[in-house]
Amino acid sequence: MQAQAAHTYPLEDWRITETAFDAGSNLLDETLFALGNGYIGLRGTLEEGFSGSPKQTLEGTYLNGFYETEPIRYPETAYGLAKQNQFMLNVPNGKRIELFVGDERFDLLQGQVARYERTLDFRTGVLKRTVEWTSPQGKRVEVVVERLVCLQRKHVFAIRYQVTPLNFSGRIVLASSIDGRVKNLEAGDDPRVGSNLSAPPLQWVNAQQSDSGSQLVYRTRHSGFTLVSAVEHALSGEAPFGVERVRSEDQQSLGHRYIVSAIEGQAVRLVKFGAYHTSRDHPEAELGARSKEALSQARADGFDALCREQAEFLAEFWRDADIEIAGDAALQQGIRFNEFHLLQSVGRDGRTNIAAKGVTGEGYEGHYFWDTEIYVFPFFLATRPEIARQLLAYRYAGLPAARERAREMSHAQGALYPWRTIAGGECSAYFPAGTAQYHINADIAHSVKSYYEATGDEDFLVQQGAEIVMETARIWLGLGSHDARRGGAFCIHEVTGPDEYTAMVSNNFYTNAMAQQHLAFAAQVARRLQQAHPAEFQRIASAMQLGADEPAQWQKAADAMYLPLDPQLGIHPQDDTFLDKPVWDFKNTPADKYPLLLNYHPLVIYRHQVCKQADVVLALLLRGDRFTLEEKRRDYDYYEPITTHDSSLSAGIFGILAAEVGYAEKAYAYFMETARMDLDNNHGNTQYGVHTAAMAGTWLGLVYGFGGMRLHDGAPHFSPTLPQQWQHYQFKVKVRGSQLQVRVNRGEAEYRLVAGESLEFQHQGQRVRLSAAEPVQSCPLKG
Ligand code: BGC
Repeated sequence: MQAQAAHTYPLEDWRITETAFDAGSNLLDETLFALGNGYIGLRGTLEEGFSGSPKQTLEGTYLNGFYETEPIRYPETAYGLAKQNQFMLNVPNGKRIELFVGDERFDLLQGQVARYERTLDFRTGVLKRTVEWTSPQGKRVEVVVERLVCLQRKHVFAIRYQVTPLNFSGRIVLASSIDGRVKNLEAGDDPRVGSNLSAPPLQWVNAQQSDSGSQLVYRTRHSGFTLVSAVEHALSGEAPFGVERVRSEDQQSLGHRYIVSAIEGQAVRLVKFGAYHTSRDHPEAELGARSKEALSQARADGFDALCREQAEFLAEFWRDADIEIAGDAALQQGIRFNEFHLLQSVGRDGRTNIAAKGVTGEGYEGHYFWDTEIYVFPFFLATRPEIARQLLAYRYAGLPAARERAREMSHAQGALYPWRTIAGGECSAYFPAGTAQYHINADIAHSVKSYYEATGDEDFLVQQGAEIVMETARIWLGLGSHDARRGGAFCIHEVTGPDEYTAMVSNNFYTNAMAQQHLAFAAQVARRLQQAHPAEFQRIASAMQLGADEPAQWQKAADAMYLPLDPQLGIHPQDDTFLDKPVWDFKNTPADKYPLLLNYHPLVIYRHQVCKQADVVLALLLRGDRFTLEEKRRDYDYYEPITTHDSSLSAGIFGILAAEVGYAEKAYAYFMETARMDLDNNHGNTQYGVHTAAMAGTWLGLVYGFGGMRLHDGAPHFSPTLPQQWQHYQFKVKVRGSQLQVRVNRGEAEYRLVAGESLEFQHQGQRVRLSAAEPVQSCPLKG
């Protein structure tokens, strides 16, 4: 485990505050202060720009799901390798507002900063910066900038920029622009950083300006999408002003210069509204009009109205999602920060998903992974099931591409989801840790299963879920077989499990365990549809050309799934050959050689028993009802010392299992590591984007770890413990139309039904039933 960094920001419950500007940590701060609404993402860059080293800033504006494609170039190619990469684009920067005090440019690295405060408030959703600055020639101004990306208006963001001259009256200029001369970040040697592009992906189409606004139109070079970026302004205050339009020679930067005869002590306020629309969402011909409409509506409503909407939306979110922890301020801040960023990152339109780095940076190129289904999904399922539903709708929309990919991979039937993608095509250029991770199919099926069980949404199952589950289940029969030499056990060959430090193996434990659940669920879904929705079943079956005996084969494979225990060690081997390999020489591996992936050739790593992340241990969590506590403890004891947690997806899962098997101190330490992973930059790469899976891992750590919640077959079980360090904690979960509040105090758990007629669940193995008439029950904590 890595050491905890000193807390950079004061410990506050509902916000993060920066009290001094530090060019050295700017790149990181830009990520932490990023704003998003699941579609638009604005890095926390300064409106006036950054005059320090270009390496210390990344002027990023992203649109979730808006991408360019590039052929993947392999020096040595092979049949079926992914051909086209898709990557999230850095789009025109609409944030820019430069301030000139007389002739002097406002710049935090020049002159003197007497006061500086920047806060990101999780309840208002507004990023606010207050600066008192004295120019090199002695003019003092107060600058207050508020920024928000509207959670209720997908295409809109807004900035209110206020300047007050403190010791002079005279000219100030606010030069606002929209700038298309932006670039994506080059990845260099670190695959987790950005992309490698051959040519600028955005091609200029046209530029338009009015007295108060600008519009830039671009087309993506290969993917052929049109993007309309536009801004609109409103200046207010007593001081007289004039306005000039400006354009760069290449017409890629369009601006308005507001020249104000400012009066000492009187504020000048510029409100800037911005909008992004693309032909991924709407017909190209409509984009211009939609953009104008969104901006004039925002302008008519005004900045304050946008703030009110934002606060209302967040109040509702926190009513469902808030986790209260009494006794640890650092943790309280960390967990709320994480939840806030999850909300900011998640696509809610059914066409987009949640990228590994959200919309805060270019790491992993804006790709969606299994991170969604296994890490992020449970959080939304319990707090905002309608968002979980949209995440599944996204996968449903990806079925045609997944079918196509299955054919490319020589599967005669079924659908194989891509390991990483934006629009549905496989984008993983390194297949041993990409396409080989077939478990993605089972991960998606797992989320369909949990959604169906937790919500009882039969309509979803019939309309989308069944098809996803059955089409993806077919792959296992194409991939694995009943092995006569192992008594007919169903074996799955040549795959990679979650642990990316072991690749291309047979019978990866996680894959087999999850495939088993997937196959059994697919058979169950087929039966359910046949009985309850026969006409719909016929429709789906004939579209899929489902053979009459296929569901029975799924069940047979599930029943015979190969999940051995090693007779000597009494543990579940991670795969057929894992235990034969030498254990990595941890003793002689210096700290600076981690993460191993940046310091050793993959083959060197693959030859050893060393895990990047939870694999067997994750299966023990997701299939928890299938294994005994003793088995879990033995596996945990074996795998923990050989796991480096080089992936941010790892520590949280180990924490949950540690809590389950009774290792309270370890559970706490792992939890602390994930809870502030980005705030404290524990993995050293938050500057390229937040780690959304790890952020969700914190929620899992609290609710599944300390709360001991499991949703086996949709019925919640709780087995809460209270870490010594805390006085109490509290969370809420939605299950089957009801909402339950769980508060864990010293010695007892209090369950309260906050919505719904009645709910039955288990507390430490005992049945509890709450109803509207008797909504509260306290249960003692054993042990
Ligand atoms: C992990 C994967 C994960 C990916 C994106 C990798 O480092 O090993 O499991 O899906 O990051 O977060």
